[in-house]
Amino acid sequence: MPKPLVTVRTVAALRRAVAPWKKRGDAIALVPTMGALHDGHLALVARARRLARRTIVSLFVNPKQFGPQEDFIKYPRDEAADRVKLRAAGVDLLFAPAVAEIYPPGFATAVTVSGLSDRLDGEHRPGHFAGVATVVAKLLIEAQADFACFGEKDYQQLQIVKRMVADLDIPTRIVAVPTVRESDGLALSSRNAYLTADERALAPTLHRTLLDTRERIAAGMAIADANARGIADLTMAGFGGVDYLAVCDAETLEPLDRIDRPARILVAARLGRVRLIDNEAFTPTSRGRPAGNDRPRSGTRRRGGSSR
Ligand code: AMP
Repeated sequence: MPKPLVTVRTVAALRRAVAPWKKRGDAIALVPTMGALHDGHLALVARARRLARRTIVSLFVNPKQFGPQEDFIKYPRDEAADRVKLRAAGVDLLFAPAVAEIYPPGFATAVTVSGLSDRLDGEHRPGHFAGVATVVAKLLIEAQADFACFGEKDYQQLQIVKRMVADLDIPTRIVAVPTVRESDGLALSSRNAYLTADERALAPTLHRTLLDTRERIAAGMAIADANARGIADLTMAGFGGVDYLAVCDAETLEPLDRIDRPARILVAARLGRVRLIDNEAFTPTSRGRPAGNDRPRSGTRRRGGSSR
């Protein structure tokens, strides 16, 4: 019988629940989510449970990280189903506040991580990362988390959160969890539910293009040429628009024109009404050439939700 899942909806109740844990010296790991939970989220929960005695999951569809034309209203929500999954996963506490609890009247503060937030997704989703950084800062402080788990799936978000925590001296260790994928390579995402059957069949091309682009660069093709070829491949496959396909410094996300340090290849493209993002690592080998000839399936989805 899994232990009961306690749900709190106010910051005051969260603090009351956390106080005795803190007093006892129990470490706390937080997993921030927007709900509609899948095995990717559950991989974060499994990692959190290994890190700390107490696991908190937050479920908050954060209006500040959606643009006016984006899907805040339509974003998938199913708290009852999420609760069943979290209870089975052994989570101690669910924090599921209303919007007015997080942003009460008069709320006027924003956290902005400059530079990192302006590139890639930041160019295409103005204000998105300020919304993310603001809510994550609040959640880390509210939960007094010793650890917080974030998915590599949202790689730019992960780097922004790491930068913010370092800059603001927030005493939480940010732990990255590898992307969980379907067996055909598609990264799990709550928004995959919006894909039609035809779009779902095309969607794995996004990850395949990342791997192909990485292989071409590893084989000696110039990054700019490989990117252009990858964008052409996506367009030919039926993607409506490619926001970016870029090779960047793995930490600062500045664009690179050669792989002379740990790098990341990132992509965002539209399939029908759905915008999909994905990324892969690019590690320089000792010979100065990137390691890109493998097709790792290490993050492939497994029953039980563990990512590695
Ligand atoms: P979201 O509910 O989409 O805001 O995601 C909550 C957390 O789950 C974020 O840290 C995401 O990066 C992470 N996440 C989402 N999808 C995946 C995935 N396929 N694999 C690993 N982590 C994921």
